[in-house]
Amino acid sequence: MAQVHATVATSDMIRTEGEHAMRHCFLAAGAAMAAMTIAVQAQTPAPVRPEGLVAEAKRAAGRDHAGTFLRICVAPDNLNAAPRPPPPTGARAVPDRATWYAAPYKVFDDLYFIGTQIHSAWALTTTEGIIVIDTLFDYAIEPEIVDGLTALGLDPRDIKYVLISHAHGDHDQGAALLQSRYGAKVVMGAVDWDATLERPATAAGGVPKRDIAVGPEGTKITLGGTTINVIATPGHTRGTLSYIFPVKDGNRTLTVAYAGGTAFNFPREAENFAVYRDSQRKSLEAARAAGATVLMTNHTEFDRAYDRARIAQLPRAAGEKHAYETDEATVQRYFEMGALCAEAQRLSMQSGN
Ligand SMILES: [Zn+2]
Repeated sequence: MAQVHATVATSDMIRTEGEHAMRHCFLAAGAAMAAMTIAVQAQTPAPVRPEGLVAEAKRAAGRDHAGTFLRICVAPDNLNAAPRPPPPTGARAVPDRATWYAAPYKVFDDLYFIGTQIHSAWALTTTEGIIVIDTLFDYAIEPEIVDGLTALGLDPRDIKYVLISHAHGDHDQGAALLQSRYGAKVVMGAVDWDATLERPATAAGGVPKRDIAVGPEGTKITLGGTTINVIATPGHTRGTLSYIFPVKDGNRTLTVAYAGGTAFNFPREAENFAVYRDSQRKSLEAARAAGATVLMTNHTEFDRAYDRARIAQLPRAAGEKHAYETDEATVQRYFEMGALCAEAQRLSMQSGN
C-alpha cells in the first residue's frame, strides 16, 4: 500500500488510474485462481503424515493428558530398542518401600484407592461385596490391598471379583492370593490367561487358577446392583481389558472410563499398532455412549491417581467438582490421542521413518 500511495502522489493521474484498474483486474484474477486452488486441494487432501498425526494427538492431549502423550507419541517405549521386557516372574528383591508405598484412600463414596505411588489398584464396594480392579506386584499385595482394605474399614474376605486389566506383573501378581485366600473370582482377557498360566509355579505372586476368561465380545460383571462393562481392548497386550463403571459422589453418579493398558512396549510391528489404534477408537465410543466424565488408568503417571486420591481428601467448596471429575470431551480426547499416536507409529513404519 505504501508503494501505491507514492505512485499516486508523483505520477500522471490518468496513468495512475489505469494502473489501479489493471491492478484491480490482476487481484480479482488472483483471487479467482486462489479459489480454484482451494477447491482442487479440497478434492485431493494432502497425504496423512505421521508428524501431522502427532500434532493432532498433541492437540487432543492438551495439558490434561500430557504425560501419556509424551510416553506414547514422543518417546514410545518400543521406538528404537527391543521392547522393555515384562517384569521377571521369579522372586526378586523388594524395592525400597519409601519409593512405592501409598496409604489407602476413600476417593468416591464407593471407590477406594489401594494402589502404590506408581501402580493403581481400586476397590469398588457394592451391597454384596467388593470388586478389586488390578492387583499390583506381589510385594504390594499385603500392605496395600489386604492391609489397605482393613485400614479403610473394609473386609478383604468380601472380595468377590478381581478384575485384571492385563497380564503384566505390576497388575496381576496379587490375583492368586486374592483367589486362594478369599475365593475371589479372577476376570482376565482370554489371551492373557494363557500368558499368566504359562508362568512357573514359583513365579512371584504365584499362579491363579483359570476363572473368567473374557473374549473379544467383552462381558458385564454385576455385583450388588453395580455393573462393570468389561471391554476387550487388545493392544498393550492382546488380552487387555478396559472398563466402564459408575461411582457415587454424594447424590451424583459419575461414569468412569478405565483404560487397561497404555504403553507401546509390545513388539514394533505395524499390525500391533493397528490393533491398539482400533481399541482406542472402541474405548472412545464406549466412553461417549456411557457419558464418562472420569478417566482412570492403571498407572498413576497417566491419570495422576495418587495425586487425585490425596486431593480428594480435602474439603470441597460448594459446587466444586470432585478431583477426578473432568468432562466428556476430556475423557474422549484421551482415547482420540491414543488412536492418533498408534496410527502415527504405524504410518512411520510404513514410510520407513
Ligand atoms: Zn503392562
